Amino acid sequence: MYKKIIFTILVCSLTILACKEKKTTPIKTVEKSTFVTVFADAETTAVTSNDDAADDPCIWINPKDSLQSTIIGTNKREGLEVYNLDGKRLFSYPIGKVNNVDIRNGFLLNGKEVSVVTATNRTNNTIAILYVKPTGELEEIAARPITSNLNEVYGLGMYKSKKTNLFYVFIVGKEGGVEQWELFENNAKIDAKLVRSFALGSQGEGIVTDDFYGKVYFGEENNALWKYDAEPDATTERVKVISTSDKNMKDDFEGVTLYDSGNGKGYLILSSQGNNSYAVFDRITNKYEGSFLISDNTKIDGTYDTDGIDVTAVSFGNKYPKGFFIAQDGANTKGKDSLNQNFKIVNWSKIATELKLN
Ligand code: CA
Ligand code: CA
Ligand code: CA
Ligand code: CA
Ligand code: CA
Repeated sequence: MYKKIIFTILVCSLTILACKEKKTTPIKTVEKSTFVTVFADAETTAVTSNDDAADDPCIWINPKDSLQSTIIGTNKREGLEVYNLDGKRLFSYPIGKVNNVDIRNGFLLNGKEVSVVTATNRTNNTIAILYVKPTGELEEIAARPITSNLNEVYGLGMYKSKKTNLFYVFIVGKEGGVEQWELFENNAKIDAKLVRSFALGSQGEGIVTDDFYGKVYFGEENNALWKYDAEPDATTERVKVISTSDKNMKDDFEGVTLYDSGNGKGYLILSSQGNNSYAVFDRITNKYEGSFLISDNTKIDGTYDTDGIDVTAVSFGNKYPKGFFIAQDGANTKGKDSLNQNFKIVNWSKIATELKLN
């Protein structure tokens, strides 16, 4: 009898041990040698709030003069900040705790085409809607507060449909719920209506849409990068691009963006936050091309723990002939000094050369 009990206890203990064993994941070693390194060409003014504050950038291309374009960044404790291409802050808009931001051009407002900026505002759980004035200044233009049904608005990405010419905003909440909103003009303002909701699974943030192919990519932070159809009447079938446990990847997956080389060609870029790197994929096949790091140089420090990223393929003359990449830096330093967070800018040509992209 005793023997039987002892045996049972032993078997149970072993089973528990075995189960524990299974759950332990091996510590991943980062193979840095497989990553190429670039240095920042410029950095923005540090945001006005301390701690984790800078989060996500987007780029406004000035249609009159590309050199007068701006970078719009979120300070998730205070609002939006606007910088010129040298990184100098031009304007600040304390509109609330805006987390992610994105932009699309060509929205017809009062008979004129404007660039529309949207941002997830966690102060009131809304989608903030603004437009860009010719000076690069922003103005709020929402017809009413666009309140989400999600518990906490978080990630955001815009979509302009080639099929219908309609403008959409995808948002994802901290619990992994997704909403797709359609933007429309309403009495000289911009209104929005909810057209689709679905579940990503768990917390997601980084979103980018590929307007050319009608696809939307979501980073599920502790799991994978996913691709869905972006049209509101599409199914929610999805394709896994890469998993956080794949080679050279380390959670969280954060910002995701698209380098548009034209004619449907280009690259998808993902912030693999856990190993401070950026993974590059072919836009068409989603094949992994390699990863890069932005490292410290004597003038500008490198990036660490990056949240949001963006990229443009527009030419800025000799400055950035094939555009530039921009990344949030979680630890902005100057020599030995620790400053408020900011965004780092890298000439795309250098990244393309280092990774031998086409
Ligand atoms: Ca952060
Ligand atoms: Ca995040
Ligand atoms: Ca973030
Ligand atoms: Ca840094
Ligand atoms: Ca710095």
